[in-house]
Amino acid sequence: MAVQGIDYEKCVDCGKCYDICPDDVFGMFCGKVYVRDPMGCQSCALCAMVCPSGACHINVVRPKPLPAGRRV
Ligand code: SF4
Ligand code: SF4
Repeated sequence: MAVQGIDYEKCVDCGKCYDICPDDVFGMFCGKVYVRDPMGCQSCALCAMVCPSGACHINVVRPKPLPAGRRV
């Protein structure tokens, strides 16, 4: 699990993290993204990379190894 949460002081409600997450970690309610399933996070960091405001917080722990041949 890498995802830590969303800083709602910075979040601009673009939904990019919700759209790009391959594991459906995020949910959407009334236009606001929230962390729905943090244990499902595979630590890919895509959400943090696409977030335009630095609101999507992750840490650097990678509990699940990448598939063979994949590098970040
Ligand atoms: S790090 Fe990857 S799997 Fe985890 S919440 Fe972000 S996009 Fe989803
Ligand atoms: S990508 Fe960033 S700004 Fe956009 S909804 Fe997610 S946390 Fe908010």
